[in-house]
Amino acid sequence: MEVKRYTNNTIAEIELPRPFDGHGHPRRDELLRLVGPMMAKRFASGIVMPNTKPPITSRLVASEYRDDILHSTDHRFSPLMTLYLTDTLDPAELNEMRTWGIYGVKYYPKGLTTNSDSGVFSPSSLWTPGTNAFNVLRKLAEEGGVLLLHAADGFDKNNNELDPYDQEPHFIRESLPRVKDAHPDLKISVEHLSTAVGAEFMFKNGGYKLGCSITLHHLTKDRRDVFRGGFRPHLMWWPIIQPAEHKEAIQALAIADKRFVWLGTDSAPHPVSSKRADCCMGGVLTHHMALEGYVEAFEDLGALDDRFERFASINGPKFFGFPPSIKTITLVREDWTVKNSYLTEGLQEEIIPFRYGETMRWKIQD
Ligand SMILES: [Zn+2]
Repeated sequence: MEVKRYTNNTIAEIELPRPFDGHGHPRRDELLRLVGPMMAKRFASGIVMPNTKPPITSRLVASEYRDDILHSTDHRFSPLMTLYLTDTLDPAELNEMRTWGIYGVKYYPKGLTTNSDSGVFSPSSLWTPGTNAFNVLRKLAEEGGVLLLHAADGFDKNNNELDPYDQEPHFIRESLPRVKDAHPDLKISVEHLSTAVGAEFMFKNGGYKLGCSITLHHLTKDRRDVFRGGFRPHLMWWPIIQPAEHKEAIQALAIADKRFVWLGTDSAPHPVSSKRADCCMGGVLTHHMALEGYVEAFEDLGALDDRFERFASINGPKFFGFPPSIKTITLVREDWTVKNSYLTEGLQEEIIPFRYGETMRWKIQD
């Protein structure tokens, strides 16, 4: 990473290969037209989640969605597509997946996050031979694709409903080792890692076959922020933002310079009426400032050096099997203020972004 400093040694400017977003929800239609330029401004490429309505469950629909994203980003962003793992996804959809621009399959536990109604009914089908999910994962390993996990269980083995703060720890302890053992050749990415249990598992087991993405919100926010003065719907995501000791464990993993850890925003905009609702939807827009936010976070952690470049631009592409961008991006130390909301042509409702109204101290040089 190229770094320029002021005479007092403070970093004034950084230049790095254009980053990779390991996990994004650019949505479709009007929302995509809002989000596309935000992604293209910050990222060279990114993994696109398939939980649109309806979900992306075929190569054909994935390539249509890919074309829409290319159009919305003026071809300045490479969308790497994923298919939604359902109990009926046809393994044949993975034939020559890379030639269709498809890099992985996403597992959603049924009903545990946004648009997850089509998800796999029982996590055990991931490791039980003969199930449809098992056959898909076997095919995925053959094709060299990646299994992307929403690593959460809804119930324990006695069918007791789990506390939301325990959903990821339970999956990491009980389900992930079984998935790994059942599919030793499969590359697995644990998405939006959010807990100390997850961080510890990664330190022990991360490598060429197992990695994880880390979001800006799990890196910088904790449960105190979510409930300060009352519940904050614009800090509500799945997986839920955890107590401070988990955030600290995620921070330690992010700056530990491990090749199996990379940036993944989980930027997930919702119209304001879905956030200020009886049942607040999980997910918030972060694509408007995500890269600037990660730079700030790494600087606050004393790690704004080559570790940041590898986290943001190198590790993810290597894991997914393509070269890092040869183009660069420059960020300068300059204050700017995040908008309070976005309302563009065609959008029926406002989108309230992450850290709305707050001052950012890093800016992308146009
Ligand atoms: Zn997501």
